[in-house]
Amino acid sequence: MPMFVDTSPPGQCIFCRLVAGEIPSATVYEDDHTIAFMDIGQVTPGHVLVATKRHAATLFDTTPAEAAAVMQTARRVALAVRATFDPAGLTLLQANGAEGGQTVGHVHMHVVPRHADDGITFTWPRQEPPAEVLAGYAQRLRAAL
Ligand code: 5GP
Ligand code: ZN
Repeated sequence: MPMFVDTSPPGQCIFCRLVAGEIPSATVYEDDHTIAFMDIGQVTPGHVLVATKRHAATLFDTTPAEAAAVMQTARRVALAVRATFDPAGLTLLQANGAEGGQTVGHVHMHVVPRHADDGITFTWPRQEPPAEVLAGYAQRLRAAL
């Protein structure tokens, strides 16, 4: 799994510097809570990142309003990506922690246009535990909400 490549303090990380205009970006959209810009590592043409403007390391550090704004911006960008690049499909990806696949420690959502045979693969080690195990997981989660 990748390690964080950027664990700079708030205001000094690469996306904070991008938000502040200290490093260049190809910006697509911005509002009070979010900024959308082209990922420097285009997995497919039209690959956009939606980041919070305020430094939050992961989803767990966002406010409800920031989390909602990221999804709303991702939806707007997804519609623009569909209109512009006409992909066969589209994947949203939001990674948290090195083990979750995050490499930049400032929360962001990938908007990735998808095409047949685009080379993107996910390993999804599906398991099917018994119903009572699922019920136990759900009970524990309900208690944590
Ligand atoms: P993660 O692996 O954390 O989900 O995604 C981080 C993404 O940030 C990567 O896809 C990488 O290409 C992108 N990225 C890293 N540094 C920069 C940068 O300076 N500018 C832009 N536009 N994207 C960046
Ligand atoms: Zn930051």
